[in-house]
Amino acid sequence: MQSDLVIKENELIDPSNYPEDQHALVDEFNSRIQRLTGIITGIGKEYHTIWVINYNTKKMYLYRSTGENTNRNAVELGFRFDNYDRFIEEYVDRCVVNSIESIQRDVKLDVVFSRIKDGELFTLDYMRLADDGNMSYHQMAFALAGQPGETDNFILAFRDIDKSIRKHISDKRYLREQLDIVETLSRDYYNIFKINPQTGGVVILKLDGYVTKGMEGAGEKVYPYDVLYKQYVKDRVYSEDQEWMYEAISLETVKNKLSTNSEYVSSYRVMDNGEVHYYQFTYIPINANIKGSDMLAGFKNVDDVVASAKERQNLEILASTDIMTGILNRGSGERKVIDAMANGKVGMLCILDVDKFKDINDLFGHNVGDKVIRGIADVLKNTFRDNDIIFRLGGDEYAAYVMNLHDEESGKAIMDRVFKGIADMGIPELGDKEVCVSAGAAFFKEGTKASFEELYKLADSGVYESKKVKGNALHIVLY
Ligand code: GH3
Ligand code: MG
Repeated sequence: MQSDLVIKENELIDPSNYPEDQHALVDEFNSRIQRLTGIITGIGKEYHTIWVINYNTKKMYLYRSTGENTNRNAVELGFRFDNYDRFIEEYVDRCVVNSIESIQRDVKLDVVFSRIKDGELFTLDYMRLADDGNMSYHQMAFALAGQPGETDNFILAFRDIDKSIRKHISDKRYLREQLDIVETLSRDYYNIFKINPQTGGVVILKLDGYVTKGMEGAGEKVYPYDVLYKQYVKDRVYSEDQEWMYEAISLETVKNKLSTNSEYVSSYRVMDNGEVHYYQFTYIPINANIKGSDMLAGFKNVDDVVASAKERQNLEILASTDIMTGILNRGSGERKVIDAMANGKVGMLCILDVDKFKDINDLFGHNVGDKVIRGIADVLKNTFRDNDIIFRLGGDEYAAYVMNLHDEESGKAIMDRVFKGIADMGIPELGDKEVCVSAGAAFFKEGTKASFEELYKLADSGVYESKKVKGNALHIVLY
């Protein structure tokens, strides 16, 4: 029962195999083994190579060498030298790639012992060079193999920490990114809260904006999210938005949203002193890599953003509209047709030009001419569908891209309706003066490679042909 016995994991000795007078010794050995196993189990099963070393003799006993990551070098060297000092010097020399000097210093027996003598675990992380030339993060762990003061044995265990280190590094990097977001949040947002998704507890990080009833300001105090957000919606959110807000920022909804997205943002309306304002909430997980990580919620006013977005939208509408008729102008109409063609939307492009429009101006004045121009735009709007693209090319010329129309018969039928609509416009000043148009059309069919310009030229050549005919006329030009 001497300490140079090779100790194997969980290997207890059956006292009945020994003479009566040795049972006490066997029991003592068994209890030592159990204690040792307990300590090692405490260190964790992930240590693949474990030596038990006697501090005085420096002899090494292999306790465990298992798993696919077994440190072959550590096992071979241990057996070869059978002496901690020589083993560890050779091991560090061969296998440790980084911080060699400090690791050489830290693994010295007196240093190790001073670190573990009171029962602590002493770990050294290092980069290990394996036989195959691969490098990975490893860890050496030292601990007493028993109670302090009762044992001369200590444990040296090795484990592969590559995955967890790498994950830790990426977590750290991620966390840094998240902190940037938090910083940005704290600059922009009036109110910021930290929410624990498991407990539903809220801590106020910043409270420069609206104070919901019951809040005492930023601090350690934990509030129940469920109570807080309902109070906020009830007191603060604009009545029309309340119903969806109760749903939108419930803890359940937020957790769901953040389980698939790295942030959850939406705007809503707030009622303040009888005025409606635009606000925005943002929910982000502090660390999306960690499931159930705390979440941050920020609330801010976005009146400016909304106002400028509205202005922009108005400007865009203005810029794309033909003022006189309200239909699209040439530029935006053409862009829309080009988009449609690029997206493979087949259709018919037709172009119309009023016949002898100058005569109308000359006979009835420009005002009446303008009425005719608006009247024709109305006819086009009423004849074609909403998703067709109708635009004014300028002067008395119009174009329409009719979606999904690809045969001559349907093309003729729809243009007959346009002609009839123009004839029936009913502009009283015109008396019985007929307004006729010349039209040309071309198809953009599946598989055709035509560009907008080519399609336009074809349709326009149809107008040219129609001009040769008196009265309303349509020429569909095929490739
Ligand atoms: P054609 O049969 O060859 O088309 O003869 P047209 O007289 O219609 O000749 P054209 O299409 O070349 O001329 C269009 C005329 O429309 C020229 C211009 O005086 C007039 N016009 C252009 N824009 C406006 C407008 O906004 N209002 C009015 N009232 N007239 C316009
Ligand atoms: Mg004309």
